[in-house]
Amino acid sequence: MIDFTQLRKDFPILFQEVNDEPLVYLDNAATTQKPTLVLDALRHYYENDNANVHRGVHTLAERATADYENSREKIRTFINAKETAEVLFTRGTTTGLNWLSRSYGDAFVQEGDEIVISFMEHHSNIIPWQQLANRKGATLRYISITEDGFLDLEEAKKVINSKTAIVSIAHVSNVLGVVNPIKELVQLAHQNGAVMIVDGAQAVPHMKVDVQELDADFYAFSGHKMCGPTGIGVLYGKRELLEQMEPIEFGGEMIDFVNLYDSTWKELPWKFEAGTPNIAGAIALGAAIDYLSEIGMDSIHRYEQELVDYVMPKLQAIDGLTIYGPQDTKDHTGVLAFNLEGVHPHDLATALDMEGVAVRAGHHCAQPLMKYLHLPATARASFYFYNNKADADRLIFALEATKEFFKDGII
Ligand code: PMP
Repeated sequence: MIDFTQLRKDFPILFQEVNDEPLVYLDNAATTQKPTLVLDALRHYYENDNANVHRGVHTLAERATADYENSREKIRTFINAKETAEVLFTRGTTTGLNWLSRSYGDAFVQEGDEIVISFMEHHSNIIPWQQLANRKGATLRYISITEDGFLDLEEAKKVINSKTAIVSIAHVSNVLGVVNPIKELVQLAHQNGAVMIVDGAQAVPHMKVDVQELDADFYAFSGHKMCGPTGIGVLYGKRELLEQMEPIEFGGEMIDFVNLYDSTWKELPWKFEAGTPNIAGAIALGAAIDYLSEIGMDSIHRYEQELVDYVMPKLQAIDGLTIYGPQDTKDHTGVLAFNLEGVHPHDLATALDMEGVAVRAGHHCAQPLMKYLHLPATARASFYFYNNKADADRLIFALEATKEFFKDGII
């Protein structure tokens, strides 16, 4: 049985005051904090093993290479990919999705084809497809969201058709906090001869993800949203598809032979990893995965749902506060976007910061969703497993105080 209250101690950054108040960090959908073990892994690598990978025959280079590749194996196990050849290191979700639009998209999407996304996508799962559609003369189509904040699966059944080449959907929305029915979408995509891409940025850090069980063709996520460092992420892809795809970047590390006028590529996964990679980042992500695995993704998921069960009714009870996405706690993850009547979300986030509570305000890189919901912006509190009920209470208290403050018209 994990004592989550003890885990907080692993995150030194949380023990500080902001504006003379103890910090309550609730911006985990943007990026998570790093446990000491991850910071130690970065330091250990640079202090003891720093060398370039896959090149030198000296001991440090061998150690760095072994640790880098070992981290790939940890990721493979974590997401249950069949083999490490299917696990590509990227800079993050954005890079993974851009690679796919270039590498898979440029090769396999034809004029007249359709690319299907949804209205709740992050910009990094919109713009690469807009660009691809423009390059190819393909059509970008959107799946709507139901009144109660779910992806409209009935509409998806109509939008995904025999013209669809790619379906690319977020596993968990970074605004609505809803989990999308990826398995059903994978089936729809496959029945129509399309590939299914999943933006897993908000899912992998919070729940057990098994890429084979989902049967997704590609799955992208970011290390920094799951206790790892920034600048490192993962793109999973099925071998048979990755084999057919060309690299996006060319240079050192990814080649087999370089002739004067042509070259050949290394085998998977290295053919996609040109240049010196983020070695320290990859190794530290491996440490983060050890840490998360030790706690257990099912425990993390259960604990976060307990927090949602605790905080959501309290938020809903605040007069004038609207939460976006599903209203039932069982359908909502720890990403809670909301507005308080009469207070601009930026003012709200500033007022909460004065109370030491860090939340985000803005369009959350989802402008089409904001437009769809007729909202200029929202505030967003997002929880992780090192948060607790006391953090939730501080959020509620700060919101009540802010409401009072604005009601009295002091400013
Ligand atoms: N997709 C979703 C759903 C996200 O929440 C984010 C990060 N906010 C991204 C993609 C992009 O991730 P990154 O900036 O790490 O590439």
